[in-house]
Amino acid sequence: MTRTLRDLPAGLAGKRGLVRVDYNVPLAAGQVADATRIEASLPTLRWLLRRDVRPVLLSHLGRPRGQPNPALSLEPVASALAGILDAEVVFFAPCDGEDALRASRELGAGQILLAENTRFLPGETANDGALAGRLARLGDFFVNDAFGTLHRAHASTTGVPALLSPSAAGLLVERELEALGALDLPRRPFIVAFGGAKIGDKIELMRRFVERADLILVGGAMANTFLRAQGIETGTSLVEEEALDLARSILAAGAERIRLPTDVTVLDRSGGEGESAESVESVAVGEIEPQMAALDIGPESRARYAEALRGCAAFFWNGPMGLFEDPRFSAGTFAIAGAAAEATATGGFTVIGGGDSAAAVRQAGLRDRVSHVCTGGGAALEYLSSGRLPGLDVLAERRRP
Ligand code: ADP
Ligand code: MG
Repeated sequence: MTRTLRDLPAGLAGKRGLVRVDYNVPLAAGQVADATRIEASLPTLRWLLRRDVRPVLLSHLGRPRGQPNPALSLEPVASALAGILDAEVVFFAPCDGEDALRASRELGAGQILLAENTRFLPGETANDGALAGRLARLGDFFVNDAFGTLHRAHASTTGVPALLSPSAAGLLVERELEALGALDLPRRPFIVAFGGAKIGDKIELMRRFVERADLILVGGAMANTFLRAQGIETGTSLVEEEALDLARSILAAGAERIRLPTDVTVLDRSGGEGESAESVESVAVGEIEPQMAALDIGPESRARYAEALRGCAAFFWNGPMGLFEDPRFSAGTFAIAGAAAEATATGGFTVIGGGDSAAAVRQAGLRDRVSHVCTGGGAALEYLSSGRLPGLDVLAERRRP
C-alpha cells in the first residue's frame, strides 16, 4: 500500500510541505485555458492548509527541454491558483536557488509558494541528484500529488522523495489509484479502447493488455499503424513506422481479442482540374487510396464498437478514435464516449485516461456520465498494465517507523 497524507505523523503545523503537483495546464494568450488540473490539486492543498502546513509547490509545464522559456512559465498558474483557492500565492523563479529557499522559510500561515517550471533546469528530467538535493531543501516533508507524472523518474518526482522523509502520496493520487484499482477487480467483460496519435509511447503498454482484457478496440492513428502492419494501404494517414513490428507481434499474440476498424472516414486530397479540392468520405478498409488520409473510424466500425461496449462491466479508454478537434472527424470519438456513458448507466465501471480523450468526453458533455476521468493518461496506462509507477515505488520504499 502506498502511504498517503493520512499516514503522515501528527504535528505538521508550521512545517513546509513540499508538494509535487501536476500543473501542466493548457495556456492561451498567457492565461490558463483549462483549470481542471489546478482544481484537482485543491483537496490536498486544503488538507495541508487546515493543518497549518506551509505548502511549497513544484510542477513542470510543457517541454522546455532544460531551458527557461517565458511561454512555459508557471506564473499565470500562480494567479489562477490564487483566484480559485482564495489564498495568497507567492511565485518565485528559479525553483532551486537560494532565494527560493529563503522564500520557503519566510512563508506565513495560509500562504502558498509556487516555484517556476522544474523543467527549466536540465537536471529535472535527468533526475540529477544535486538538483534533487536543492529542491529537497525547500520542504520539511514531501507529498507527491502529480498523478500525471508518476510514471516519470525525474528529480522532482523520484529524486526528492529519496532524500526527504517522510513522504506520501496526495489525495488526488489516492483517488486516481482507487479508480484504477476498481478496474482490477474481477469485473468481466473488461474492454479497453486505444486510439490517439502518441503511438510510440503507448503501443508497448498495449501489448500487456492482450492477456488482461477481454476485448481491445483500436481506433485513431493507432489503428492506421495496425492496418499498415498487415500490409493494408493507408495512403497519407498518420502511421508510426517504427512500431510496425510491434503491432505485428501484438496481433500475433491476441488477434482474436483485437478489433480493428473495417471502415474509415478519410480526407481525400485528390483535387480536380488543377484545384486542390478536398472531400470527406467513408470507405472500407482495403479501399483507402494513396492520396487519402484516414482521420476517423467509419460508421460501420462505430456501430460495431458501440455494440461491443453494450453491457460491459469495466472499460478503460485512452486515445481519441479520430481527429475529433475537426467536427468532420469527431463521430467515432463521440460514439465511443456515448457508448461509455451508456455502459456506466447500466452498471459498468468506466475510466477515461489521457488529456485529449478527457477533453473529448467533456466536449461531448459526458464528463459526469462516466465513472472516472484520469488526470494522466500515460501514468494510468503504466499503472494498469504493470501495477507499478516509479513515483509510487519511491514512496513505498521507506518503511513507516
Ligand atoms: P490522449 O491525450 O488522450 O492520450 P493522444 O495524445 O495519444 O491521446 O492523441 C490525441 C490526438 O490524436 C488528438 O489530437 C487527435 O486529433 C489525434 N488523432 C486521433 N486519430 C487520428 C488520426 N487518425 N489521424 C491523425 N490524428 C489523429
Ligand atoms: Mg494527448
